[in-house]
Amino acid sequence: MAKHIFVTGGVASSLGKGITAASLGRLLKSRGLRVTLQKLDPYINVDPGTMNPFEHGEVFVTDDGSETDLDLGHYERFVDVPLGRSSSVTTGSIYQNVIARERRGDYLGKTVQVIPHVTDEIKSRVFDLDTEDVDVVITEVGGTVGDIEILPFIEALRQFRKDIGRDNVCYLHLTLVPYLGTSGEQKTKPTQHSVTELRSRGIQPDVIVCRSSTPISDSVKQKISMLCDVSEEAVISAIDVSNLYEVPRLLHEEGLDDYVCSLLRFNTEEFPLDLTSWNRMAEQANNLEDTVKIGIIGKYVNLADAYLSVVEALKHGGLHEGVNVEIEWISAETVTPLLAEERLESLDGLVIPGGFGPRGIDGKITAASYAREHGIPCLGICLGLQAMVIDYARNVCDLEGAHSREFNQHTPYPVIDLMEDQRIVENLGGTMRLGTYVAKLDPTSKTAKYYGTEVVEERHRHRFEVNPRYRSKLADAGLIVSGLSPDGRLVEFIELANHPFWIGTQAHPEFKSRPDRPHPLFRGLIEQSVKRNHSRCSTTDTRAAAGSPSIKADQTHRNGQDAMAVAE
Ligand code: GLN
Repeated sequence: MAKHIFVTGGVASSLGKGITAASLGRLLKSRGLRVTLQKLDPYINVDPGTMNPFEHGEVFVTDDGSETDLDLGHYERFVDVPLGRSSSVTTGSIYQNVIARERRGDYLGKTVQVIPHVTDEIKSRVFDLDTEDVDVVITEVGGTVGDIEILPFIEALRQFRKDIGRDNVCYLHLTLVPYLGTSGEQKTKPTQHSVTELRSRGIQPDVIVCRSSTPISDSVKQKISMLCDVSEEAVISAIDVSNLYEVPRLLHEEGLDDYVCSLLRFNTEEFPLDLTSWNRMAEQANNLEDTVKIGIIGKYVNLADAYLSVVEALKHGGLHEGVNVEIEWISAETVTPLLAEERLESLDGLVIPGGFGPRGIDGKITAASYAREHGIPCLGICLGLQAMVIDYARNVCDLEGAHSREFNQHTPYPVIDLMEDQRIVENLGGTMRLGTYVAKLDPTSKTAKYYGTEVVEERHRHRFEVNPRYRSKLADAGLIVSGLSPDGRLVEFIELANHPFWIGTQAHPEFKSRPDRPHPLFRGLIEQSVKRNHSRCSTTDTRAAAGSPSIKADQTHRNGQDAMAVAE
């Protein structure tokens, strides 16, 4: 049987429970333990697939095609274990099962109640992860202690310790220790109240992780230890950091993993920590000198979490190339043909991310077009690839009015469309291509060069595809289809020959990028963006030294050079 760690949060939301759970997972994995993670979300949606990214952040897609909470992205990036359907549980999915069982008569006519039926269902979902090949299951509970909707989860967790024994369960509670400028003190009262709330539901925390802007002093730790009845070593200070990947090291320095191991009876000598390569990566992130500016042409640009995995994947690419990545958030709706130069010319590279619905699609097509014509490195993801194909059809193949049938049912040239077999399904929800699919790459393509292999697996989340009827027309006009589904039916990757980096993928490569294993396409994008950045700097220097030749002429020259560099 595996050991279980439950992570709850109090005082305020957004304190970083996900990062704490993920960092603890990293530490235990770096001790050689086999770790898996799970998120219990208190909302009634059955899964986050239909939730607005503006409200809830991105939908993270796992290999098995589950649409999950963005915290699973943190788990996968930090712990580097593939997660699946059972790692994402919502109140909606719990009730869905309980009600289905009630309808089937499984409860033999009993009155179906929160305790024990809902709590049993919650416990059975946690046990789903408790398999032979796992030593530790870390389960994070979304929301904040005290929320009404969280109560069944807390009750189920409480029962856990009784069910499987003291030494097999660790309750970790994350709180906030604010600093009050007026009194010049760190305040413990919110933590006390939050622990009292947790205790009133029957859970005495074993470890309290305290978020704060400055390190928690020893006297404050003593106070929390005394008032909340935890050992002093179990009060862990978690200070604010700008580089998330430093959190595992900081928590280790506070003794978190040692304490948790002793609590769960793991012999720390048998499982010594080796965090060397992780720390080297995290350290590197603090020592980047140059910066490239990457535009994300998005729909939800006011909430960075809506594109969390894209941002992280860009950072991973930056780490590999030794540069900081500065994100310029560009609302797709503001990218018009008139304003494209003003919005895009100063970028070193750009990403056109995935999306649903018509808002901003014109700006995405304009951005794809501008990047193509002006040699700006551009990575199109899912809808981004579709925008690239529409641009190519309209502006290179002269198919005026070409569009995706998602946005214009009556377009004369539906270059992006549902496939035949999808059109007959009435419920669109059933037609989504979700999860990991294999693609075969053209071995001579840049895409294959970046991947370093000809067969790749990427995660998908979309309905529409490049319409096979237009493939030869696009290809005749120079668009290279650099990757296809194994049966040759679906376009998976596109690229251009005479461009430093104009690559589109129907998949979502961002979900598979890891800080110490950046995704090849993000690495490639940043590599080419660095080149553009350097050539722009040297162009500016040359112009300053030799008067001022035309900018456009310099750019044409520069793009030609870059294209050659890639072709090599
Ligand atoms: N809306 C597009 C489709 O359904 C793209 C989806 C996406 O970008 N994830 O095909």
